Amino acid sequence: MDLGIAGRWALVCAASKGLGFGCARALAAEGVNVLINARTEAPLHQAAAQLRAAGAGWASATGQKAPEVVAVACDITSDAGREAVWSAAGGPGRDFDIVVTNAGGPPTGDFRGFSREDWVRAIDANMLTPIALIQATVDGMAARGFGRIVNITSSAVKAPIDILALSNGARSGLTGFVAGLARSGIAARGVTVNNLLPGKFDTDRLNATLVAAAEKTGKPIEAIRAAQAAQAPARRFGSPDEFGALCAFLCGRQAGYITGQNLLLDGGLYPGTF
Ligand code: NAP
Repeated sequence: MDLGIAGRWALVCAASKGLGFGCARALAAEGVNVLINARTEAPLHQAAAQLRAAGAGWASATGQKAPEVVAVACDITSDAGREAVWSAAGGPGRDFDIVVTNAGGPPTGDFRGFSREDWVRAIDANMLTPIALIQATVDGMAARGFGRIVNITSSAVKAPIDILALSNGARSGLTGFVAGLARSGIAARGVTVNNLLPGKFDTDRLNATLVAAAEKTGKPIEAIRAAQAAQAPARRFGSPDEFGALCAFLCGRQAGYITGQNLLLDGGLYPGTF
């Protein structure tokens, strides 16, 4: 399926690895120009090279010019980081057609142990940063008559996890904001806003939680991995490529009537009918 977005510009945040990278690769493979960011230079530039290869594949299959790939090493949760992105995009840098918001998730723990600063950091990264990115780009999208905003949140928004209090809280705030924004005047001007809610995906972040569980319980990491993968009816973790494919579809022309939705990708783990 041609998603009809070749030549458009996408900002994909926190995209040197994992889910963000999956989204960036799926977009580059559709001929979309991408600007990716992450804090650490080396993996970011490796990711950019892989995206250029994906774009080259699209170019040779279609006979068109390969999409551009720009990498900006910065912390997207800081004002300076976002300014670096805008200036790398050229001047005000507000001409993105597609914005995929993402950042590292907050730490786990008992809420009794979290300080005010822990809460502010989580809200900053997982609520206020996506809102700032949307604020900077949405009116330009509406003026041009096309826009796609996809926020990477978490299944914890729908089925809260006790040790993820910071994530449950901060991401729910973003979800409420998005629900209102999606139904505002932008909907009639070609701009959609949706959230993707990952369950368990095979990424470095998931692996770090498995290592922590192995250390805590003394069980072999492979046993913990197998037990966690078996929790979902699909009996496996999701892959960043599967995640990226849905993100790219939501960014496509055909998804213009999908807005304000929270799409759960969890291999069937959530037990409810809706
Ligand atoms: P990951 O594999 O650890 O990748 C995280 C990516 O984000 C890396 O490229 C990292 O690069 C970048 N990053 C982190 N903090 C950043 C910041 N402040 N500014 C810019 N880049 C930043 O993680 P993931 O599994 O893809 O998770 C992505 C998001 O989905 C997280 O918020 C996570 O909590 C959420 N999530 C994941 C799962 C899952 O199963 N994987 C489930 C539910 C929710 P640098 O470290 O170099 O910056």
